[in-house]
Amino acid sequence: MKIFNSKTTNGVKYYAVSLFEKTGIVKTGFSTRFGGVSSGRFESMNFSFITGDKKENVLENYKRYCDALDIDINKMVLTRQIHKDDIHTVDENDFGAMINRECTLVEADALITDKTGVTLVKFSADCPVIYLLDTKKKVAALVHSGWRSTAMNIVGKTIEKMKQDYGCNTDDILSAIGPSIKKCCFEVGEEVAGVFEESYGEEVIDRNYNKPHVSLKDVLTQQLKGAGIRTENITQSDICTGCQCDEFHSYRIKKGECGLSIGTITLI
Ligand SMILES: [Zn+2]
Repeated sequence: MKIFNSKTTNGVKYYAVSLFEKTGIVKTGFSTRFGGVSSGRFESMNFSFITGDKKENVLENYKRYCDALDIDINKMVLTRQIHKDDIHTVDENDFGAMINRECTLVEADALITDKTGVTLVKFSADCPVIYLLDTKKKVAALVHSGWRSTAMNIVGKTIEKMKQDYGCNTDDILSAIGPSIKKCCFEVGEEVAGVFEESYGEEVIDRNYNKPHVSLKDVLTQQLKGAGIRTENITQSDICTGCQCDEFHSYRIKKGECGLSIGTITLI
């Protein structure tokens, strides 16, 4: 069974987490490069306002994505991702930031909400986005976990905060790791490999290349298990954004000359 299923609405192609959608309490999405209006290195669906794309094009991309998923653009929650382990619990002040007004974004790589109709947004160009959903308490979280945040175990900390602040129970939490760079394309230096090897074992490192390659998905799976998520509730996309850089923005493969995809989750 494919964990992430692709859907296309009005030319906008995105992926949804089937395990989550089946609960009937949530909408999920991970954008592709198809269906937007941006051009050049941003082609065609880019969601970054700050890397040189035209603002009106980016806004149009948001509109098209929201229309395709039938979600409220004015209740999207954007934050500035700083590759740390800050976790933000969403409130009304966050709705529509940068979408319907200029403002300084809250800095946070993880978001949690129990509010229906609110769409948590995480940017990605290779970095794993992790979807979390407590199906009983109806609490959703979205985590951007690049290698630095992964080294800080941001996903484990987010689950801990869901328990502390929202009374979530790990037995009720579903998880999914989105389309992201896999170990085939994720070369790192020895110092980064060492950080992960020390904490997660040699099985997360592949040394059959000139330089070590790290499997962030394997590290994240260990972290989800370590946080108490049931094995059957840990799922992941099999897509590598590096190998599939025509369909997804890939910072690594395009050497930074790219747009940003988004992952989203909306309680309904
Ligand atoms: Zn790859």
